[in-house]
Amino acid sequence: MSSLLHSGVIIEVVYLIATALFIVSLKLMNSPRTARHGVWAGELGMLLAIAGTLLSHGIVDYKWIAIALVLGSIIGVPLGMVHMTAVPQRTALSHAFGALCVTLVGVSEFYLRSATAPVFLLSVLSLEVILGSLTFTGSLMAAGKLQELLPQRPITYKGQNLVNLAVLALAVVLALHFILHPSQLHVIPLMVAISLLFGVLMIIPIGGADMPTVISLLNSYAGLSAAAMGFVLQSKLLIVAGALDGASGLILSINMSKAMNRSFTNVLFGAFGQEQSSGPAAGDDTRTVRSATAEEAAAILSAASKVVIVPGYGMAVAQAQHKVRELYDALSKRGVDVKFGIHPVAGRMPGHMNVLLAEADIPYDKLLDMDEINGEFSQTDVALVIGANDVTNPAARTDPGSPIFGMPILDVDKARTVMVIKRGMSPGFAGIDNPLYYLDGTLMLFGDAKAFVGSIVRELAGGNHS
Ligand code: NAP
Repeated sequence: MSSLLHSGVIIEVVYLIATALFIVSLKLMNSPRTARHGVWAGELGMLLAIAGTLLSHGIVDYKWIAIALVLGSIIGVPLGMVHMTAVPQRTALSHAFGALCVTLVGVSEFYLRSATAPVFLLSVLSLEVILGSLTFTGSLMAAGKLQELLPQRPITYKGQNLVNLAVLALAVVLALHFILHPSQLHVIPLMVAISLLFGVLMIIPIGGADMPTVISLLNSYAGLSAAAMGFVLQSKLLIVAGALDGASGLILSINMSKAMNRSFTNVLFGAFGQEQSSGPAAGDDTRTVRSATAEEAAAILSAASKVVIVPGYGMAVAQAQHKVRELYDALSKRGVDVKFGIHPVAGRMPGHMNVLLAEADIPYDKLLDMDEINGEFSQTDVALVIGANDVTNPAARTDPGSPIFGMPILDVDKARTVMVIKRGMSPGFAGIDNPLYYLDGTLMLFGDAKAFVGSIVRELAGGNHS
């Protein structure tokens, strides 16, 4: 056993199992039904990866490792307990810590090995340090914006993209200079400082609401820098885990941009989320909306045979998912066919609605993706929109001047009656008016999502709606 350990075979086998578990984890996370198992597989993989590293015979003293483990746990445990709505900024903080670690390892490797390192290694190290540094400050900025510690609005100025590109180019030039003259170690702090600055400048022009897409892109950068570190440390596990992280982050950002019908360039340089002026100017608006009470809504819902519930960001803010479950139970008991229409970018992070509804134990087979449910709206009696706005805006189909024109939406306006629960007429993330609210078949149910759904449930339980 000890000779196996000494030869490193056990460690290699542990790493191999950890690598396989990471891949299985991603596969299982493809569906809400298996996602929990996916998380467990990922956790087990990470545990094995850490255990394998601790077995390494290169370790001469465990004291500092123990201190780091305690410190990491002190930070990690409370981070894992944040509220669901704070998960995007929590994820950004995790990326920041990962990127800081990659940068520190990279810098120490520069000082330890640059005198003898070949050009390839120096190039990979430079890539690792530049990506790690910009991901560190970029992720901190993203977390700050999401937590509203920093201004949410995009901060822009003339020639900004040029300035940003010049700063990044400077970091690359310094890296090239160092690769050619590896004895000039004083270049390293400069390169790190400029990359850190680029991380800040890169995030400033992006609106707070675009942060989830940016975080997923930063996730991809963190993965790439970890893969680069894998080459430097000759760790196959790090190369594979970093590549998986890099690829999945990139695919996720592409999918999110597609679901918003926006290009990457638009997300990164478009300063989206600024105040928009779309629809009639305030004061000129003669359109009216019809509103209804919880009692009227309960009567309409109980008379329906098919209801599609469309949740959005407002359901998350109000934490209304458990009340929504009660509503689902009450209507199903009356024989109403209730389904949920889930838009891929409803809410503020990928899978936001699926996670909330799963937390409330809504059966998975009742959650239908946009493509599956859209064909059913024309045979639906009531589309009940709960705190969703942009993902139901018909202007995305009909108004070429709209900032969201071309974004695929849930076709709730095709249902016989649309009922929309929201607190007032405020716009959603895109900052634009929603013509859905002025249609003849639409009823506005003004109020907080949790309170209003609760009132409907009480009406259904106590009233004579049969
Ligand atoms: P939305 O368009 O942002 O609209 C949310 C609506 O919820 C608001 O109009 C607001 O109206 C209402 N609301 C807020 N608090 C509420 C409460 N307590 N009770 C009831 N209603 C409440 O949300 P969405 O339809 O889910 O669309 C998501 C948007 O985020 C899309 O534009 C998408 O592109 C963008 N986005 C999503 C992601 C992602 O990963 N999911 C990432 C980046 C961007 P009132 O203030 O009048 O109540």
